[in-house]
Amino acid sequence: MAPSAVPQQQDVDLTAAAVQRKEAQSHATNGTTPQELDASRLTYTLTSKPRPVPDEAVANAGDETVATDHMVTAVWRAASGWAAPELKPYGPLSLMPTASCLHYATECFEGLKVFRGHDGRLRVFRPDRNAARMRMSAGRISLPLFEPAELEKLMVALLTVDGPRWLPKERPGNFLYLRPTLIGTQSQLGVQAPKEAMLYIIVTFMPRMDSPPGGMRLHTSPEDMVRAWVGGFGYAKVGANYGPSLMATQDARRRGFHQILWLYGEQGECTEAGASNFFVVWRRKGDGKRELITAPLDDKLILDGVTRRSCIDVARERLAGEVEVTERKYTIAELVEADAEGRILEAFAAGTAYFICPVSQIHHRGQDINIPMGPEGKAGEVTSKIKGVVGDIMYGREQHPWGVVIPEKE
Ligand SMILES: *Cc1c(COP(=O)(O)O)cnc(C)c1O
Repeated sequence: MAPSAVPQQQDVDLTAAAVQRKEAQSHATNGTTPQELDASRLTYTLTSKPRPVPDEAVANAGDETVATDHMVTAVWRAASGWAAPELKPYGPLSLMPTASCLHYATECFEGLKVFRGHDGRLRVFRPDRNAARMRMSAGRISLPLFEPAELEKLMVALLTVDGPRWLPKERPGNFLYLRPTLIGTQSQLGVQAPKEAMLYIIVTFMPRMDSPPGGMRLHTSPEDMVRAWVGGFGYAKVGANYGPSLMATQDARRRGFHQILWLYGEQGECTEAGASNFFVVWRRKGDGKRELITAPLDDKLILDGVTRRSCIDVARERLAGEVEVTERKYTIAELVEADAEGRILEAFAAGTAYFICPVSQIHHRGQDINIPMGPEGKAGEVTSKIKGVVGDIMYGREQHPWGVVIPEKE
């Protein structure tokens, strides 16, 4: 065999190789280095018409998401890099109908909440993780990379301007929702990596969805539909993952369920619940030990949720004697078996939108798995403890490095 027949690394491992190449480019240090995203260059144009701040119920009642007065935008061009980011009044974007994102799904986003703490302070929860994840998602769909810390600074800058009025000290225990977004904007229908892109950050109201009364009811995904697959992009928060999943979710809702439990492969591996990660607490087969189990990250099927990671960390650090944490593949058949043997103790979905939400039922191929709930239809013991710790950090009842305080003028 000729030496040229030896496969190159990128022949076998394109996703990894392409991202590495992109990173190398973005760190090139010749005279024509494109500008990096730089939060210190942020310019401020404040609105002359601040809108009245609605209360939460009113804001969430309409068909349109209500955003705060300002947004941050930053434009990127392949030749020059990132232009100075701008903080300016919230309003429509201007895009050509040929813009890349409108045709080829060159779009990724993040979602995180900003909390008004019981101590009066404003906090975001582990924003470094969202910023790092957004960079990873951007790389996966050939959008420009950036230093995650700069994105984090831009989020903080926007919240410093809009936070005090839109989430005032008189509303402890409330939150707003941050949506950093990156889109390919090049107006060129050729199917190629866009040479122009726009980053924007908005802050919006979001309905409280923590816990449907009686717990969340899941319907397993239909056999002819998968959310994500090995070699795909289920691990990236790219818009292309969500549109195609809406049909199954809508159908499940029609039948009285809240979310889809996405199964994968011949064996029906449990992956995620809607756009949340999924956890089960059970008595482990064999030794009967109490175990918290969730799908692993290594085959890149599921999203590396900030809430998921925090649940795992909290369970490992603070519930060490009470529950063992396991990240491994597990199947719906294992849940059916555990249910028949009375070993399922609790289950919950974990993500920014629903936070930590107890699951009371899984409907699978005509069969119901009924999962115990805690007293008064609340979360069970392990779920409640984890939720308590993470919630305390979010709302400043516990001072912790995960809760990043937003500076505000007094
Ligand atoms: C956003 C998201 C999650 C939750 O991630 P968090 O960082 O905890 O909000 C889980 N799964 C999918 C598919 C998601 O899009």
